[in-house]
Amino acid sequence: MAVKSLTNKLTGRKLWIPRMTYIGARFMAAAFRAVGIDASPTPPSDAETLELGGLYTSGEECYPEKVTMGDFLRIVKAPDFDRDAHAFFMPTAEGPCRFGQYAPYLRHVLDEMGYEDVPVISPTSKNSYDGVGEHGSDVMRQMWRGLVCSDILRKILLRTRPYETEPGAADAAFERSMEIVEAILASESLSSKDRMAGLIDAIVRVRDIFRAVPARYVKGKPLIGVVGEIFCRLNTFSNYDAVRKIEAHGGEAWISDVSEWVWYTNWSQKSLLKRDGKTFTLSMAGAMVKNAVQRREEHKLLAPFHDDFLGYEEPHDIYADVLEPAWPYLPADGALGEMVLSVGKSMYLHGRGADGIIDISPFSCMNGIVSEAVYHTVSADHDGIPIRNFYFDASSSNMERDLDIFTELASGYQKRKKKPRRYPPCFGS
Ligand code: SF4
Repeated sequence: MAVKSLTNKLTGRKLWIPRMTYIGARFMAAAFRAVGIDASPTPPSDAETLELGGLYTSGEECYPEKVTMGDFLRIVKAPDFDRDAHAFFMPTAEGPCRFGQYAPYLRHVLDEMGYEDVPVISPTSKNSYDGVGEHGSDVMRQMWRGLVCSDILRKILLRTRPYETEPGAADAAFERSMEIVEAILASESLSSKDRMAGLIDAIVRVRDIFRAVPARYVKGKPLIGVVGEIFCRLNTFSNYDAVRKIEAHGGEAWISDVSEWVWYTNWSQKSLLKRDGKTFTLSMAGAMVKNAVQRREEHKLLAPFHDDFLGYEEPHDIYADVLEPAWPYLPADGALGEMVLSVGKSMYLHGRGADGIIDISPFSCMNGIVSEAVYHTVSADHDGIPIRNFYFDASSSNMERDLDIFTELASGYQKRKKKPRRYPPCFGS
């Protein structure tokens, strides 16, 4: 019924999904298509994205706002734009981060342009993004599965590509893998149970495709942890394809994934309920059940990659593995959002044998600024592991200039580090 109301609202419209990551947007769109809602990632960002984003923002907003707004406005400004044929998807969040203003501001801009009737679909982090659930728990569940699959595919790509012996083979495997998973997510005829079974089969195929990529897993490549603001670190347009630059400098990147944010918002939801004295309530029970279901499904989807990800395991418990260790530097009950995740994950990656940490953030984002203020102490307390902030905006980045030096620092640290890393296993010939 609820799915029906969302479907009715969007009948005849295409729902545009912002491409924080292309794969994530593609899988999210597939989840909507599975319930009869036409959806697609916004087209690839380009110079017009920045031009339009700049025209409709004042300069006070953060860089990701400029990019997502610009991408949406390219659709609105297209000569054949039909107000009855489009809708936009933009989640929102509570708290000090400017992300909470993206959806209301998009609404405001569309209204000002005379498009009051063009829908903006906007779930919120206040209820851990249950807002979509009001309209269709099935969409929400498929989105979660899609998100987990997108994290897995990105992880296996980054673990494989630096070692490929046939240039382009890992990227080709990634493309093929996206198509395989997307087909299952978008299928309209599958029950939830059958879709999960289909996704597990798909993930096994993905694993075998990547195992067949010709690769030589030589030792000694610096392993660079990549943390920072979620959009800027993952959006290749915004960060000028930072991960490929790390790889071009001889490194291997381990980038913080998207599900990290979901575990954090789940923790945050429970923590707020506890603070408000609602420990023994239905809301708390619901939050705990949802967390448990998500964990169980993640576990099932990750299981085929058990051997491939040995040494590359993500934190099992966001509080125990990330937030609690970061507490002496940034307590998570006061320092909200990604700053605490970036610091805690840096420490986690140090424990996994990373050779350096790069924090990618937009200029003027408080997350990068606050994290940078404590990284010096974090590094001093963790064997002097190099940690470096790189800031990005529409016109520049300091990455290209400084990556040579950073890679050298990471290689130097590699020779004296106390925490060994595990290298990828070789499944090929
Ligand atoms: S974390 Fe920073 S850059 Fe990202 S949305 Fe929030 S304020 Fe903007």
